Amino acid sequence: MPGSARPFLRNCELAVAARTDVAFQQCIAPACGATFSVDEVLTSCPSCGNLLDVTYDWDRLRPPTSFEVFERKWMRRSDPLAYSGVWRFHELFPFAPRESVVTIGEGQTLLSVSDGVGGFVGMKPGRLHLQYEGLNPSGSFKDNGMSAAFTHARMIGAKRAACASTGNTSASLAVYCAVTRLMRGIIFIGSGKISYGKLSQALDYGALTIQIAGDFDDAMARVKEVSGKLGIYLVNSVNPFRLEGQKSIMFRVLESLGWEVPDWIVVPGGNLGNSSAFGKAFAELRKIGLIDRVPRLAVINAAGADTLYELYHKRGLRWEGGRADLSPACHYYDELDRDKKRADTIASAIEINRPVNLNKCLRALEVCDGVVREVTEQEILDAKAQVGAGGFGCEPASAASVAGAKQLVAEGVIGRDERVVCILTGHQLKDPTATVAYHTTDQKLFNEVLGSRGVSRASFANRSVSVGNRLDEIVQAIELYG
Ligand SMILES: *Cc1c(COP(=O)(O)O)cnc(C)c1O
Ligand SMILES: [Zn+2]
Repeated sequence: MPGSARPFLRNCELAVAARTDVAFQQCIAPACGATFSVDEVLTSCPSCGNLLDVTYDWDRLRPPTSFEVFERKWMRRSDPLAYSGVWRFHELFPFAPRESVVTIGEGQTLLSVSDGVGGFVGMKPGRLHLQYEGLNPSGSFKDNGMSAAFTHARMIGAKRAACASTGNTSASLAVYCAVTRLMRGIIFIGSGKISYGKLSQALDYGALTIQIAGDFDDAMARVKEVSGKLGIYLVNSVNPFRLEGQKSIMFRVLESLGWEVPDWIVVPGGNLGNSSAFGKAFAELRKIGLIDRVPRLAVINAAGADTLYELYHKRGLRWEGGRADLSPACHYYDELDRDKKRADTIASAIEINRPVNLNKCLRALEVCDGVVREVTEQEILDAKAQVGAGGFGCEPASAASVAGAKQLVAEGVIGRDERVVCILTGHQLKDPTATVAYHTTDQKLFNEVLGSRGVSRASFANRSVSVGNRLDEIVQAIELYG
């Protein structure tokens, strides 16, 4: 209901004066900087085509002057907005009034120290932290953003929502549709790439699932076209409201660290929405005076989908306060097309050629003095096995963060006693095929799923033991291996 007058509700602690008077959409290109109302549905700047931010007039908003406001909400667990790990931080992305907020209890996630994984990475005890976003309702961090996108969609009265997805965005969209019944969910996936764990969620939750002959980048291009044509609300991370919700991952990290800023945040990079949201979160917290320094940011690509690594690390592409000539990215995409190079990695959630948030991520890397690395399939799977052995469990894409941290420690870029947070973006059960193939004794399965990708060994395999259906054999196996 664009523009309609809604009763204005006050939060007990603060005036969350939401929306059009204090929040707006703004083009990220400083040379353009065009602004638009938060009542508009846009996925890029109508004047220049760059990405849009949700921006706030912090001076008028009077944001919290200490983190205590958020801590006090833990006493109000019966309030859905205080219970949500996203909306507990509503004052830090106040684009919607309280009564528009859509929450299904997302963001109940944990930051844990893992000395097991820390040892593997090369860190001293107590220094490596894992932010386990697999605990979200649909099993990935995407719910942080979906909750915010649905809130915006509800504000403007959308009836249908769509996304292109490697699996997790669709699972998230589908669960929000199923729980809230606010919109019909329409999902575009590339053919043959999606893991069964994720596909099963979209089907089970009842979303319309359209499998197109092409990869993620094709699906993305199509869904943009279709949603423009049919007026369907797009929930991919080009939606600036989604990234507002994803900022809360960093707020929870800080909360878990007693509001101390860690030295490093390490995150896998696919469409680069998360890394962009993290950079924005820290820039804003610093601006409003809640923190005085920002962590460094490491974004990790899979070697089979390494656009950011190629552009940032190898070709030296930088944001330069928004003044940089970003045409090398277009040239690189032309090269990819010319060479018919397609992203290919077991880490399907980051199997992306043309990251839609590239420009925002370059900005985040500037804010957080960032680095970019790429990791091989072998490194990803070994790291994933270590995350599992540490009692967490994640899908392959998530393990890229741990594999990347290990590489950066080996290089001496990350110090062994620095405080590091690796984001585990998705749950272990999202992609059981990769896990079983890694631990299997079945050479054929191993070759099919992993060998074909250049994985030569399963260094941390926990192999099952086959025995006959006989008591003595079973007893012998337990005594031998137990
Ligand atoms: C979406 C996703 C990513 C990639 O995140 P971006 O924000 O697109 O960079 C990484 N891991 C998992 C599990 C995901 O679902
Ligand atoms: Zn613009």
